[in-house]
Amino acid sequence: MASSSLPELPGLPGLQTRNIYCIGRNYDAHARELNNPVPVRPVLFNKPLASLSFDGEILLPPFISEPHYETELVVAIGKEGKNISQDDALDHVAGYGLGIDVTARDIQHELKKASHPWFLAKGMDTFAQVSSFVTADAVDDPQKIIFTMSLNGKRKQTGNTSEMVFPVKEQISYLSRFVTLQSGDLLFTGTPKGVGALRGGDLLQAEMMPGDVTLNVRVKSII
Ligand code: ZN
Repeated sequence: MASSSLPELPGLPGLQTRNIYCIGRNYDAHARELNNPVPVRPVLFNKPLASLSFDGEILLPPFISEPHYETELVVAIGKEGKNISQDDALDHVAGYGLGIDVTARDIQHELKKASHPWFLAKGMDTFAQVSSFVTADAVDDPQKIIFTMSLNGKRKQTGNTSEMVFPVKEQISYLSRFVTLQSGDLLFTGTPKGVGALRGGDLLQAEMMPGDVTLNVRVKSII
């Protein structure tokens, strides 16, 4: 984010992001590919605003040996709420988009081993790449969204939100027991299987249906 004001969400005029929340291990095939158990309750973490970038560039510092992409449906909250019921949860959604949850897997492994928070592995500058959003009325059912990601023209991930362990309404309801969700907050909803490594010069192209959302991101190594 370049300016001192809060970033406005592309496609959702007037909505400004204050918080970026994320869920981990929300597709069981992805949990298994990293040898993690499928969780019994949502695994939540957050990213700082400094990591947010719209259709931008992922900057890789030289001290990361295993940067990974995770392609995810991103939900934009449009209405403040606390203790939101699952029945009301989708009324709090302003729109849907795509994101790349960039993860320094090598650093995350070290942090997990030490039982430390994942923050540094997930929260670096440019590590939350986000597309433009479609308004919620363009999506009948957030559990019927298909999204794909190709790396340098080769398909790497296909997500079907019907396979989420915790559907969007449950994520919103659960998270809002702990924090007041604010208008403009973003929720990264987890990645399907197929995560993998990034290198300088890579081009990531993601698409989502319905909504015709696209996300194009370049990767650059910082020397
Ligand atoms: Zn993720």
